[in-house]
Amino acid sequence: MAEPRARKVVLTEDEMPTRWYNILHDLPTPPPPPLHPGTGQPVGPEDLAPLFPMDLILQEVSGEQYIDIPEEVLDVYRLWRPSPLIRAYGLERVLGTKTRIYYKYEGASPAGSHKPNTAVPQAYYNKKAGITKLTTETGAGQWGTALSFACAQFGMTCEIWQVRASYDGKPYRKVMIETLGGVIHPSPSTLTASGRAILEQDPHSTGSLGIAISEAVEVAAQSPDANYALGSVLNHVMLHQTIIGEEALLQFEHFEDWPDLVVGCAGGGSNLAGLTFPFFRERWLNNRKVVIRGVEPASCPSLTQGTYAYDFGDTAGMTPLMKMHTLGHDFIPDPIHAGGLRYHGMSPLVSHLYETKEMEAVAKTQRECFDAGVLFARAEGIIPAPESTHAIAEAVRAAKAEEHGSILIGLSGHGLIDLGAYQAYLAGELTDHTWADDELKKSVADALTRLPAIPA
Ligand SMILES: *Cc1c(COP(=O)(O)O)cnc(C)c1O
Repeated sequence: MAEPRARKVVLTEDEMPTRWYNILHDLPTPPPPPLHPGTGQPVGPEDLAPLFPMDLILQEVSGEQYIDIPEEVLDVYRLWRPSPLIRAYGLERVLGTKTRIYYKYEGASPAGSHKPNTAVPQAYYNKKAGITKLTTETGAGQWGTALSFACAQFGMTCEIWQVRASYDGKPYRKVMIETLGGVIHPSPSTLTASGRAILEQDPHSTGSLGIAISEAVEVAAQSPDANYALGSVLNHVMLHQTIIGEEALLQFEHFEDWPDLVVGCAGGGSNLAGLTFPFFRERWLNNRKVVIRGVEPASCPSLTQGTYAYDFGDTAGMTPLMKMHTLGHDFIPDPIHAGGLRYHGMSPLVSHLYETKEMEAVAKTQRECFDAGVLFARAEGIIPAPESTHAIAEAVRAAKAEEHGSILIGLSGHGLIDLGAYQAYLAGELTDHTWADDELKKSVADALTRLPAIPA
């Protein structure tokens, strides 16, 4: 008889971490602050108050190392957390590799991705501040689903602008969102001035996350009972996601192992940050060795081919200016299937870690990613989200080359609402798209000339 072997570690509810980790406390050098576009000065809490509740604003700028997770949030987290850490024996076997491969699976959440980890606390803190409605944007629809779920938990309304290309291409997301109680519009819409301005120029605009953010921000800014919620990029979002990495550290103790390489896909950076920030702490404070690598789509390569500069988070220019890797706030990416990775910018914290060479990044074309996604599905039984296949593809490459003893993959979600993408892949209809460096540098430089002059 074969020895029984541990395939996964599932922590008990009592073992679930009760604090988020704030990487700002331990960063070797501080990141550049967000600036007010009018004054060029760092934004203060009062600048953000029209959009966010004070608890979240304070988390955005906090220097505390740990922040306690409120009991009301832990209670909702326990619906699906702790999430499992699984040893990918099946994938190791088909690759014929000696590398030990693990994946941290966030797809068992109600929304099917890591996004409820921040949607739930964002809804909670807004509710506590007396807000009754949250507005937001969504690309492929995962964030809209997560926020609709979170708002329903706390008896709030959720109004969502979804990028037109995905609204038309992924109709089941709309059904999920409406079933969970959310209200959803295609973006650009005629409901906002920013949407109407885009439609005037291009009545057939397929939209972008930047445009949808402008619409959601505009509506929240005009209503005292409504706030805006962002699903990635901001510091407080990265903070809430660190529960992923904190759990993974405990689970590796049970496996009596340690990952030499940690890979995650990167759109705005939140699942990558959530998985890896606690590992950075272990590197800096406990001298643990770990390579950390983000994987982005070649068609939207903000880290590997973007410019590190102050830029807006949205297309209409309503957000503070953030120093980040950007393709330009009016960049409209190719409609690739990993909708959640089609954002022009990157979290300022993730950008800073990349710029200071604490983190690595690579870009991949979609066919290599779907090759790996299908291999993974057949080996492990989980159909990964198109976004997550980017991390899997890099892990597959590194495991074949046996570059590391062990690898941890951030499996940010499942792809069961993205079967249209798999259908296109299986039918041989997916095409790859890459950018020439000078093409991108020029379009970013153009976008940055349209920024307000930053007073010195
Ligand atoms: C939204 C999403 C992403 C990309 O967003 P990040 O903020 O970079 O994590 C990745 N994977 C899944 C499953 C998503 O839903």
